[in-house]
Amino acid sequence: MRLSRYFLPILKETPKEAEIVSHRLMLRTGMIRQEAAGIYAWLPIGLKVLRKVEQVVREEQNRAGAIELLMPTIQSADLWRESGRYDDYGKEMLRIQDRHEREMLFGPTNEEMITEIFRAYVRSYRDLPLNLYHIQWKFRDEVRPRFGVMRSREFLMKDAYSFDLDQEGARASYNRMFVAYLRTFARLGLKAIPMVAESGPIGGDMSHEFIILARTGESEVFCDKALLDLPIPAEDTDFDSDLSPIVSEWLSFYAATDEKHEPTRFEAEVPAERRISARGIEVGHIFYFGTKYSEPMKAVIAGPDGVERPVHMGSYGIGPTRLVAAIIEASHDEAGIVWPDSVAPFDVGLINLKAGDPMTDTACGDLYDKLRAAGRDVLYDDTDERAGAKFATMDVIGLPWQLIVGPKGLAEGTVEIKRRATGERHALSAESALARLA
Ligand code: ATP
Ligand code: MG
Ligand code: MG
Ligand code: MG
Repeated sequence: MRLSRYFLPILKETPKEAEIVSHRLMLRTGMIRQEAAGIYAWLPIGLKVLRKVEQVVREEQNRAGAIELLMPTIQSADLWRESGRYDDYGKEMLRIQDRHEREMLFGPTNEEMITEIFRAYVRSYRDLPLNLYHIQWKFRDEVRPRFGVMRSREFLMKDAYSFDLDQEGARASYNRMFVAYLRTFARLGLKAIPMVAESGPIGGDMSHEFIILARTGESEVFCDKALLDLPIPAEDTDFDSDLSPIVSEWLSFYAATDEKHEPTRFEAEVPAERRISARGIEVGHIFYFGTKYSEPMKAVIAGPDGVERPVHMGSYGIGPTRLVAAIIEASHDEAGIVWPDSVAPFDVGLINLKAGDPMTDTACGDLYDKLRAAGRDVLYDDTDERAGAKFATMDVIGLPWQLIVGPKGLAEGTVEIKRRATGERHALSAESALARLA
């Protein structure tokens, strides 16, 4: 993409309304624009990152055996009356009336709808286990939308729902999502720690929030430092095998949000030098809730004995829009964002230091074509801005690599490459630069 033809509305000033660094940087780099309180438009460079985050989430859901579908954003109130949640959900739910005065709502989550779909088609234990997910916009009328897309009212969620014959099966489904989540967040360059969370009326130990430690996080969390160094399950993990040894290892170290925190246990189990008491951002939440929806909504399956019983369910959420902000919170410096390779909006930023100079234009055009032919996504700054402004723009938008080309270097037969994360710069021949980046 040539910057002269792109839409990258970088702001010169730091927006005053933004309280946290990710929100400031997302506004400054033209990733998002607020259209109403807690409601954002995703501008081109922001959308590119969001799509990449989504894709990592999708790949890891698929790897774990979950199957993608797509449910609508608008739901009927009647569905929620069946589960009894229509009245309980309260003001966070955006309620809408259509022209026939039918009560509708903008979905804050999809347990009811997926249960309705399941019961329409699945009758036998032979069709289980089943895990269905979608990546769809949600609306929650948050009391205090803030920090940009970190806590917005309209936000994207990946929500998966598992169906099993019994609690034992449900635990295996839970473990698959647990491992998928560890892999997902690691691929996004994040250290997300699964922490015991409030599990509601069902009880048991089957609810975990995945939390990233960050000063600006809204949750208060307590955990063992050892969790930061545990190995992430490999790409070739067999999701058909028993995953409980992996899950048990993670759960053997203390980690809890403030609601579930037990100070005496924390002090007894964790040596003083390994105790982390910090703030965190919830980026995912997995949850087993048994027959909470299947019972009232009559989603029943026949077991091997022919007897019908309500199906056991779990739900598994990740917030891709919140994750974009969380990644920035975890990866930035004074100059701006430092994107992990896996989600960077472009792979390489090509800087032409003297647009209009025939030799520089030709060299840049050639590098641009060759990098693109090699499958790299390149943002080519072909504008006539000053060099300093170009460097600042590339730094603030945080592309992993910069390729800097100017007449001085070219006269000596060199271009420069810069790694954004470390700031390291090397002068080398155009061929070597290509070999490095392509
Ligand atoms: P929070 O405690 O932050 O309000 P939650 O517990 O209400 O989140 P869940 O119902 O567990 O959220 O939803 C699953 C995921 O959706 C969360 O882990 C988070 O990543 C994302 N999410 C929830 N609410 C928001 C929001 N208002 N803005 C952006 N992402 C959100
Ligand atoms: Mg909430
Ligand atoms: Mg929460
Ligand atoms: Mg939650």
